[in-house]
Amino acid sequence: MYPRAFHYHRANSLKEAAAMLADLGDDAKLLAGGQSLIPLMKLRFASPAHLLDLNFIFGTSYIKEDEGNIRFGPLTRHAEIEASAAAGKVPILHDCAAGIADVQVRNRGTIGGSLAEADPSGDWATVLSTLSTEVRCLGTSGERAVNLAEFIKDAYTTALAHDELVSEVVVKLPPKESGGAYLAFKRSAPVYPTASAAVQLTMDGDVCRDAAIALGCVGLTPIRAKHAEAALRGQAITEKTVVRAMEAARNAADPQPDMRGSADYKRTLVGALVKRAIQIAARRARGEQVELSHIYS
Ligand SMILES: Cc1cc2nc3c(=O)[nH]c(=O)nc-3n(C[C@H](O)[C@H](O)[C@H](O)COP(=O)(O)OP(=O)(O)OC[C@H]3O[C@@H](n4cnc5c(N)ncnc54)[C@H](O)[C@@H]3O)c2cc1C
Repeated sequence: MYPRAFHYHRANSLKEAAAMLADLGDDAKLLAGGQSLIPLMKLRFASPAHLLDLNFIFGTSYIKEDEGNIRFGPLTRHAEIEASAAAGKVPILHDCAAGIADVQVRNRGTIGGSLAEADPSGDWATVLSTLSTEVRCLGTSGERAVNLAEFIKDAYTTALAHDELVSEVVVKLPPKESGGAYLAFKRSAPVYPTASAAVQLTMDGDVCRDAAIALGCVGLTPIRAKHAEAALRGQAITEKTVVRAMEAARNAADPQPDMRGSADYKRTLVGALVKRAIQIAARRARGEQVELSHIYS
């Protein structure tokens, strides 16, 4: 199906884009990679009167390391992150970028668009929930920094005001003795996962000093599995502690049955993904290079 007719605009700067959003009102939508918005428009689930293209704004696609942070420009493509040496220093970022859909989607889709879309099945919000992540939001009255946990309000709902856009994503580099892993279970490459698990561990020798575990696609937003994290904190990573964390993660999940599987199936699946991700994260925290690929059914 063709989208409904719309007016097309190009912004020359992010500030100008924010001002145009304020002028054009609720019927305007930003266009980044178009990998979520254009399919919705073609299905006529979204019919904006004005489309405001961000793709011609200079300097909005970058990955910079500075003062213990990695900064992502809002239009940084998944493929650029996949290929980036700076992002590669945090393996969980590479796991995420390299596993999103297929090459075509990764070449167009952006980190800013993905967070702004807040799709419950999106990968970035789940992964970035396990790191210290700030989303910079630029509006007509200036820029503010919002923690990711406060940025994602609900399914497809964020803290962005109508005249605001994502201007940067800032991720704090985890400590040296930290390792992470992101695993998704998919029916095939170009589809969203059935369930996913992101784990970031900080180790003190054999003992887990800190743990962050987030579950994807099993709730309306990414779920931080706090009891699972507590089951690991201060403990050695053994079969027993990992199973305890897995069981706690299953209980934290709140899945909906759909064409990808029943709620029970997804709950069991996400537990198994957490178990595997913990094991890989612990090995990476010890300095091992562990290759990881998503699991395809
Ligand atoms: C076949 C297919 C499979 C996919 N599979 C996956 C998957 O497995 N995992 C996954 O995570 N994603 C998947 N995606 C989605 C993809 O990652 C998208 O790139 C992403 O969700 C949205 O990014 P975008 O840049 O394309 O945004 P767009 O589609 O351009 O925009 C999405 C929404 O965000 C708004 N927006 C865009 N940029 C900004 C900004 N800077 N500030 C504020 N609002 C903004 C837009 O107005 C729009 O409402 C898939 C897409 C397709 C087509």
